[in-house]
Amino acid sequence: MDTKTQIETLRQELREHNHNYYVLDRPVISDYEFDMKLKELQALEEKYPEFHDPNSPTIRVGGAITKNFETVVHEHRMYSLDNSYSKDDLADWEKRIQRILGDVPLEFTCELKYDGASISLSYLDGKLDRAVTRGDGFQGDKVTTNIKTIKSIPLQLRGNYPSKFDIRGEIILPLEGFAQMNAQRVADGEDPYMNPRNTASGSLKLQDSALVAERPLDCLLYGIVGKDLGISSQYQMLEKAREWGFKVPTIAKLCQSTEEVMEFVDHWDRHRHELPYETDGVVIKVNSLRYQDELGYTAKSPRWALAYKFKAEQAVTVLNKITYQVGRTGAITPVANLEPVLLAGTTVKRASLHNADQIAKLDIREGDTVYVEKGGEIIPKIMGVNLAKRPKDSTPTVYITHCPECDTPLLRTEGDAKHYCTNYYGCPTQITGRIQHYISRKAMDIEGMGSETVELLFKEGLIENYADLYTLTKEQVMPLERMAEKSAENLVNGVAKSVEIPFERVLFALGIRFVGETVAKKLARAYKNIDALMAASEEELTAVDEIGERIAKSVVEFFQDERNLLIVERLKGYGVQFELSADKLLNQTELLKGQTFVVSGVFAQLSRNELKKMIEDNGGKVGSSVSSKTNYLVAGDNMGPSKRSKAENLGVPIISEADFLNMVP
Ligand code: AMP
Ligand code: ZN
Repeated sequence: MDTKTQIETLRQELREHNHNYYVLDRPVISDYEFDMKLKELQALEEKYPEFHDPNSPTIRVGGAITKNFETVVHEHRMYSLDNSYSKDDLADWEKRIQRILGDVPLEFTCELKYDGASISLSYLDGKLDRAVTRGDGFQGDKVTTNIKTIKSIPLQLRGNYPSKFDIRGEIILPLEGFAQMNAQRVADGEDPYMNPRNTASGSLKLQDSALVAERPLDCLLYGIVGKDLGISSQYQMLEKAREWGFKVPTIAKLCQSTEEVMEFVDHWDRHRHELPYETDGVVIKVNSLRYQDELGYTAKSPRWALAYKFKAEQAVTVLNKITYQVGRTGAITPVANLEPVLLAGTTVKRASLHNADQIAKLDIREGDTVYVEKGGEIIPKIMGVNLAKRPKDSTPTVYITHCPECDTPLLRTEGDAKHYCTNYYGCPTQITGRIQHYISRKAMDIEGMGSETVELLFKEGLIENYADLYTLTKEQVMPLERMAEKSAENLVNGVAKSVEIPFERVLFALGIRFVGETVAKKLARAYKNIDALMAASEEELTAVDEIGERIAKSVVEFFQDERNLLIVERLKGYGVQFELSADKLLNQTELLKGQTFVVSGVFAQLSRNELKKMIEDNGGKVGSSVSSKTNYLVAGDNMGPSKRSKAENLGVPIISEADFLNMVP
């Protein structure tokens, strides 16, 4: 087989597997086998750049950066939908339609109304050409690079598709993936995202497509527009889209009457919480496309479609008590403890109150009768207070001034919505929280040890920080509650084994505020070892791609603290990895040490990511914007004019890809 065929065969195979896994939810090979094939393809594509394909399955991992999203005009306008809330609304709609069409027999296609961000995908000759957000309906932002990382969206269609069409759908974040993302954020010391819809929609405009690729986004399709599609009904349209490789929920139903439509609405109003994603209603569409044509559009929506909105689910209950949680970074979160109430299929006992401002804004008090709603949010929200039911002796909530765990006065810095307990080293919840983070799966992944064990070890005075874990002996651990010889042994072995965990994860495990998994990787790559990182100033840190002031400040503060330095020294002594491993250092030099590069535009020989990697591999730093600290601007085609003029003004040398390649081995 020649190389070209080999590459094409692999691409075809990977496309098939993507479709099986992400669209049909029926994988036929293991994740491992898939990764192996993908790696093989990546290696071949790197070696033979002449066979580059912008729609290759390797594009899914992301990496390309979009600084400014181009605004483009939709070829076909994206309309809004009229809303209805009752059976009467539905009957009125049918009457209006029948008046126009002249009392013909009607069929309706019912689909769920997926709650996410609308998107329009344009396909040309079976290939994804561009993806555009809804915007104002006439024009939106081109987010193709980010959209290509969503694995259920076909980059190459299958079967017998028209040569040109747009397909509309909703980018969603399934609930389980959303919950996992939030668990990770909390573990990283960051505030959880509010709801899946906003997070999905925010994801589309992230500059780094690699970050989009990490999010478990999905895309559900519902409508095709174009000429000569050979389709005669909405229901057939859904079937066709499925055939061509799109993800179209099979829940859609063809109904013969509005009575049947109501049955569908009632059914899903009751069962929507069993779905893996959020919906906010049912979209009812006249099935025949000929009738749709005849009905046409009002100023903002089609006459042939109607959104039947589900009622926002609310419950009324009593707020018994406001309590306060302390996170591992010291952040305080107020929690409403409610009289248990049934809401959206689950019993709700607690609701987040977010912060002091939120409580003040709604004047929420203990003893109040409150309205709880589960809108887009996973954690229910308090929407308001029934003042008529407020107890006579009620007094306004006074926010705590001291940590509920250690009684240290709380601090709230300008611009931060949260209060913090500053007793970093003495607050028991923060201490155990940090150790729990250190041993967690994505950090040091210490087997044989869980959160409760950490609390127990701390209570017994055996550990006070994560360095102490390495001094634990079997004899010390065995007498603890629920410990046996075997489990004690596992624990000690698990700790010992953690010295194999690579530097970037150790850096994450240290629990520096705002240094999540991705940031830890970036810092490890840029600095290669802990000593270099500890020596970095705030300014130097912000010159690293994607590292903002908030992170830089937090890193510098962490290493300014003597106690942290001592812990790091001890960990070093126990053999924990504090530099990138040898195979990561291979091909690396110090040739560009101390030099900061900004990379802009499109390059002929290297992708922008390869170029950045070469800079970092040779000891240089990649900056995100041109400043007086920049040593070189590496300019490719289509570089932004503002970067060029800024470099010229500051006297930063502008070099070509070829110039750069001459600087490195
Ligand atoms: P609205 O923004 O409330 O006017 O509702 C219109 C939006 O509903 C459209 O822009 C779509 O993005 C979204 N939508 C979700 N599911 C569907 C569906 N099955 N059919 C049509 N539109 C849908
Ligand atoms: Zn405290």
